[in-house]
Amino acid sequence: MTAIPPGAKIGILGGGQLGRMTALAAAALGYKCHIFSPDKDAPAAHVADAATVAAYTDEKALAKFASQVAVVTYEFENIPYLPVAAIAERVPVRPSPTVLQIAQDRLREKEFLNSVGAGTAKYRPVSNLADLMAGVEEIGRPAVLKTARLGYDGKGQVAIRADSDLAKAWDSLSGAMPAPVQGILEGFVQFEREISAIVARGVDGKTASYVAVENRHENHILAQTIAPARVPFETARRAEGIARHIAEKIGLVGIMGVEMFVGSAGTLLVNELAPRPHNSGHWTIDACVTSQFEQVVRAICGLPLGNPRRHSDAVMDNLIGDAINRWPEILKDPDAKLHLYGKREARPGRKMGHVTRLLPRREETPGG
Ligand code: AMP
Repeated sequence: MTAIPPGAKIGILGGGQLGRMTALAAAALGYKCHIFSPDKDAPAAHVADAATVAAYTDEKALAKFASQVAVVTYEFENIPYLPVAAIAERVPVRPSPTVLQIAQDRLREKEFLNSVGAGTAKYRPVSNLADLMAGVEEIGRPAVLKTARLGYDGKGQVAIRADSDLAKAWDSLSGAMPAPVQGILEGFVQFEREISAIVARGVDGKTASYVAVENRHENHILAQTIAPARVPFETARRAEGIARHIAEKIGLVGIMGVEMFVGSAGTLLVNELAPRPHNSGHWTIDACVTSQFEQVVRAICGLPLGNPRRHSDAVMDNLIGDAINRWPEILKDPDAKLHLYGKREARPGRKMGHVTRLLPRREETPGG
């Protein structure tokens, strides 16, 4: 295994808070970062050594970027696959473009998950109203219609309830779908909790799992993460096992968040894969020996993975939109760990920062 040594430059596609916190962790290990983002004021670029402001489809700019870095990673999934696959010919892209391709398309993702034995909600591909009607007939109501691509934080999805008009539901979503129009109908999962398991996998195939955490959403956006999840030991162990299995089967080099629904009998269904640091792992900065951001840097640079074990339990609250204005009050609590992303404008639904509060570590849990 040839490590990319400290001092080298890491290229990050995407300029949001995940890239920012990755760049901060990279700097702590002596790496430099080059951010590629269409955003002129990218939060990640504020803390990086270099930045390119260009569209993800700008092949010339991407080629130049690739020639200036030792490895490329990405901090969100909605990056076009083809240009990323093209730069992978010049420089290692980790996780691989194939992983990106699976994670950015809900249909491919569900097919992959089921092919490796990870359970998901029932689903059907839907590309017109007739498909939707047939799908609802088969899966039943309630269900959720989602765009297969380019959806996040609940954007690009509509609930199909007992009284929903299918034609209206199709019209409301299909207009927002990029060509070719492709949707996915999912059975509605009656879950008891939502949890996520984050796993890192190195170039040598070794894995490191963080303890499974519990996530509470508001308006489809992550509001709070509780670490560890309030689930039985055995459920947490299974969740981590599923995440590790997926990381191995997909050939992950990097880090991945696996979102799951926990049913009343402890059943686990995978909702989504995120092959990058995950919002539900921000607590690891303050509560673990190795944060998810340090871990992704280690993984993609071919370094040994660090210990993911937590020294404390934690509760992480996202600061969304105007909640950023609470910063003076948060700072009055000397134990609150405040992280702000340097975004200029607090739009509704925009993740502006987060705050982590540490608690004494209680139970023994599997993994970290
Ligand atoms: P997603 O964009 O797929 O992560 O969905 C955002 C949120 O919507 C999830 O975290 C769940 O709270 C809810 N959700 C999505 N899909 C389903 C489903 N099939 N059944 C129940 N809830 C869902």
